[in-house]
Amino acid sequence: MNIFRTSLLLLFAFLPATVACTRQEAQTAKGATVTRMPFGQTTEGQQVDIFTLTNANAVEVKVITFGGIVVSLRAPDREGRLDDVVLGYDSLDGYLRNNSPYFGAIIGRYANRIARGRFVLDGKEYALATNNRPNHLHGGVRGFDKVVWEGKEFKRPDEAGVVFTYTSRDGEEGYPGTLTARVTYTLNDRNEFAVDYHATADKPTHVNLTHHSYFNLAGDGVCDILDHELMINADRFTPIDTTSIPTGVLAPVEGTAFDFRTATKIGARIEGNEEQLRNGRGYDHNFVLKRDAGAGLVLAARAVEPKSGRVLEVFTTEPGIQFYSGNFLDGSIRGKSGHVYSQRCGFCLESQHYPDSPNRKEFPSTILRPGEQYESRTVFAFRTK
Ligand code: BGC
Repeated sequence: MNIFRTSLLLLFAFLPATVACTRQEAQTAKGATVTRMPFGQTTEGQQVDIFTLTNANAVEVKVITFGGIVVSLRAPDREGRLDDVVLGYDSLDGYLRNNSPYFGAIIGRYANRIARGRFVLDGKEYALATNNRPNHLHGGVRGFDKVVWEGKEFKRPDEAGVVFTYTSRDGEEGYPGTLTARVTYTLNDRNEFAVDYHATADKPTHVNLTHHSYFNLAGDGVCDILDHELMINADRFTPIDTTSIPTGVLAPVEGTAFDFRTATKIGARIEGNEEQLRNGRGYDHNFVLKRDAGAGLVLAARAVEPKSGRVLEVFTTEPGIQFYSGNFLDGSIRGKSGHVYSQRCGFCLESQHYPDSPNRKEFPSTILRPGEQYESRTVFAFRTK
């Protein structure tokens, strides 16, 4: 296992001050809450429940047991007005449809692409679905976004959350080994929504889990994210070929449309004629995050929506983050309150190991072996400016 799969102990030792819970805050906690209600049934008749997490500032996150999907997330603007900042549907039906582009879901067993759906592990070749021709995408035809997870709510003085568990059988979607996955969502009174991933396997396998919310910090019903000012803490990114597979090069962002080291509007350069923008039809690239040796959770990205003053900061223990500017939204989806989701209505910041790592020995490894623990943490912090 590489350094990014640090033990929980190490992880908490490196939590930045803004994310760590101080004793004083715990004592003055006003109390987050969590409730559980039925949400619907899958086409096979499996029950799906919805959990509502609310914190002391009335920030509210709704998550469902189908795909561990975040169906709504209400965050305050600079005047304290709450609005839903994630794309999705009003009811379960939308999420059950095949053309749902992973709105709000847990992605696994392998987030992002594996070239031609093939990899060799310990001398044996494995074949996966090529559901994003010619490649494998987001765990296959029925990835972790399309299964029903076990959900168990919990509440502590200044935070509330849900622990989701799912056991992926040996051979599921072509991956070797039984994988026992646990994803914990926690909302605290500092308006931080944390996603903690844990997994073990009984045979060597590949694991790369992420969360796939599409954000629009302007609020529900506002389309296009081009005015959001984005900072990504990366000097390098992984350029892709025309099928979105990394070429293997870690290219400097300097002098390209991928330089977000200083906050820049998403729309400022997106229509440029750079080959990488053409290959991704906009931004759909993995950024190599900067971190000091031994650093656990680091600031990966910050998005500011100037009109509302809403700010999203993403911290992660992962080596990379995929910035996806909603290029494939094409107006064919009607989401919440009947809103049409056209191109660039939302953006994703998906913490991850680099795409196609199973075929790239030079990238940080995604192999999980029996006896090892897969540990990963990402925090979405909602602030205002
Ligand atoms: C990928 C995109 C893909 C989208 C949803 C993102 O994580 O990078 O290429 O279109 O997910 O389908």
